[in-house]
Amino acid sequence: MKKSTRVNHPPTVELPPGNHALVAPIYQTVKFEFDTLEDTERYLRGERPGFFYTRTSNPTTRQLEQLLAELQGREECLVTASGVAAISQTLLTLTRQGDHIICFVETYNPSRYLIRRLLGRFGVAHTMLSIEDLAGVERTLAAQPTRLVFFESPTNPLTKIADIGALTRLARAAGALAVMDNTFAGFHQHGDYDVDVFVHSLTKYASGTGDVMGGAVIARAELIRAMRTDFGTLGGTLDPHAAFLILRGLKTYFVRYQAQSASAARIAQHLAAHPAVARVHYPGLPTHPQHTLAARQMRDFGTIVSFDLTGGGPAARRFADTLALFALAASVGSTESLVVTQQMMGGRELSADQQRISGITEGTVRLSIGLEDPDDLLEDLDRALAAA
Ligand SMILES: *Cc1c(COP(=O)(O)O)cnc(C)c1O
Repeated sequence: MKKSTRVNHPPTVELPPGNHALVAPIYQTVKFEFDTLEDTERYLRGERPGFFYTRTSNPTTRQLEQLLAELQGREECLVTASGVAAISQTLLTLTRQGDHIICFVETYNPSRYLIRRLLGRFGVAHTMLSIEDLAGVERTLAAQPTRLVFFESPTNPLTKIADIGALTRLARAAGALAVMDNTFAGFHQHGDYDVDVFVHSLTKYASGTGDVMGGAVIARAELIRAMRTDFGTLGGTLDPHAAFLILRGLKTYFVRYQAQSASAARIAQHLAAHPAVARVHYPGLPTHPQHTLAARQMRDFGTIVSFDLTGGGPAARRFADTLALFALAASVGSTESLVVTQQMMGGRELSADQQRISGITEGTVRLSIGLEDPDDLLEDLDRALAAA
């Protein structure tokens, strides 16, 4: 064999029986082969297990899928190239022309865009309500057949809490699917509720380090089975190397989420007592309007703390520019603390009434609390609040 041939057919190294890698290797391959054409045909007919093409499945992404399904307390999972890919592919797969869906003003901006513009173009109608308007949900479900209810909790950025028990009961009674973007609360929360489909951005708490993108859809086996072929064909597949990095990040998921939540709680209390702050939005604070509901639904109140500065927009500018440790950057759930102001948030397309429901003002600031020492974060915040 010429060396130019050999580089394309390198030696294979297999672990001998009884010998295992502690961390599974990355199957950085697109293609898999069976020994014979007959085995290949049997695989293609669904008569034998195996792997064939990574867009459909790969052992490394499969390991991540099985782990995430277990963490969220469901049977099955599909991972995708980003959180938005998980949401778009889920919505495209579960709906058809003529369907109606319910979503909320407080929904993540790209999801709202997806529902309003993209699905709208394919003849899927929607009703957009406030996440606090359970009576509106009941009325809408009674008025027309609805395919699914798409919601989040806590919401971005003001950490409103959805009444998951009530929403899922209403959806179930009306024959609609309850689809929940559970990114903010994480994989260890809300699994006890009757949610049909969880979607997550793995870009946030799964990796934790903000250096890799991914998404996941987690549901009972029968639903995932019905979605799998569509997902493979829509093509937003997660790369095995990214899956490996996310699996590595998940090893520290619980300690990160808990430590960052504890810092967030301390920071929320500190902000609530500061004269430059008009109002703090953190579900762990007894002053949060839905604190009782949050305490019933959540094990950890999360790492996102939002607040309104008494000085409005100009104060938010001075505050953001004075911070040194908080990066003025999008996203949440990193080990670095992040800050976003109203000027960086979307929602310009909302009507005046919807903007009022969203509750975001020019002085609204969202913090994502990282793993830095909370004393350092509080010192940084105090300096910025003094400047604000
Ligand atoms: C970030 C985020 C997404 C989108 O995830 P990407 O990985 O950035 O595509 C979806 N939902 C929520 C709530 C998010 O915070």
